Amino acid sequence: MALRRAKNSIHAGLAPARPRAPTVAIESLDGFGWGLIGASTIAREYMVDAIRRSGGRPLSVMSHDGARAAGFARDLDIPDSCSDLDALLADRRIGAVYISSTNTQHRHQVLAAAAAGKHVLCDKPLATRSTDALKMVRACEKAGVVLAVNHHLRSSPVHQTMQRMIAAGEIGAVRSLMIVHAGYLRPVLQSWRIKDAAEGGIYLDLSVHDIDLASFLLEQTPVTAVALGAGVALGSNTVHDHAMYALKMSGGTFVQVHESFVTPDVESQVVALGSEGALIAAGTLAQRSTGTLMRRVNGRNESIPLRANDLYADTVEQFLGAIAGTGSPRATGRDGLAALAGAEAVGKAASTGRAAAVKRHE
Ligand code: NDP
Repeated sequence: MALRRAKNSIHAGLAPARPRAPTVAIESLDGFGWGLIGASTIAREYMVDAIRRSGGRPLSVMSHDGARAAGFARDLDIPDSCSDLDALLADRRIGAVYISSTNTQHRHQVLAAAAAGKHVLCDKPLATRSTDALKMVRACEKAGVVLAVNHHLRSSPVHQTMQRMIAAGEIGAVRSLMIVHAGYLRPVLQSWRIKDAAEGGIYLDLSVHDIDLASFLLEQTPVTAVALGAGVALGSNTVHDHAMYALKMSGGTFVQVHESFVTPDVESQVVALGSEGALIAAGTLAQRSTGTLMRRVNGRNESIPLRANDLYADTVEQFLGAIAGTGSPRATGRDGLAALAGAEAVGKAASTGRAAAVKRHE
């Protein structure tokens, strides 16, 4: 496994958390032991494979339902399963956990993992409230374990290239960023995501990803949000499934975002409008490494060829690099916290009809 040095977190200036008391020796990260907290769709479809591709060994999976955990373990060839978080965390062969339970559970599971000295890759949103996310970040820092958030869109070669080109000034000063992230929510995912605004809805599901991507591309954080949102088909008055919003970022760039669970056949777009040109990414907001990148300068379009990768394996490899002390996660716990604070402001702006300030958490 090649571990690359990553400098692309918006918090890259902070020293990565160093493991003070790892539960396993980390002479070699090949064969590194993982515990899975959550027998989820994303773990089944992507993350078990991504962990294995990165040289790791998923050793045990935990579900609230022991029979489900056992079935998941059998299907994915994982040696152990359990229904007890403490039992999984007590396993000394496990050095890191991947958490992909429903969103309200992330908080107590991350806190328990940190207390047990396990490194944590938590799926997004890091928590359902930014005040909780701050506690989780601090607990991991105090325990000396790495906390990463699975904002996999940072791993896209298209987004990585956009970020480098923007940072190098190739389109001048970026005045605006436009993101269209829409589609139709798969029937298998139409459960907790559209039931309760405290756990689901478009802001905790898509906005955190898009705000994190904007922060990553621009190397700026969101400051103020204005928004429209509604439950037009799958959601309700309180659980929004369709939203448009605008953010003012810390460097003054405007970000405009369209998100929907209820509009099929939309190709995603990420468009950066600069003082000396534009970057246009199409079809990149996906779970697989897809899409194209075009640069437009002086009225001419130039296609930029890029090679696809495995977005989730890249996220896992960067996380392992942080554990080894050779890099930083693609998205740190503080990046996940910032994205969640931004999404909170968007949800507040949509429900009140007024501009909302993004909470700053130090
Ligand atoms: P799922 O609904 O598939 O799984 C979440 C939890 O729901 C599981 O951990 C499981 O609980 C329970 N569950 C799932 N299926 C069943 C079932 N058939 N019967 C009973 N319980 C079930 O969620 P997702 O995989 O879509 O999302 C999980 C997390 O990952 C979320 O935080 C989400 O936001 C995030 N996510 C991130 C993505 C990314 O690209 N970074 C993409 C998709 C999701 P238990 O484990 O206790 O059995």
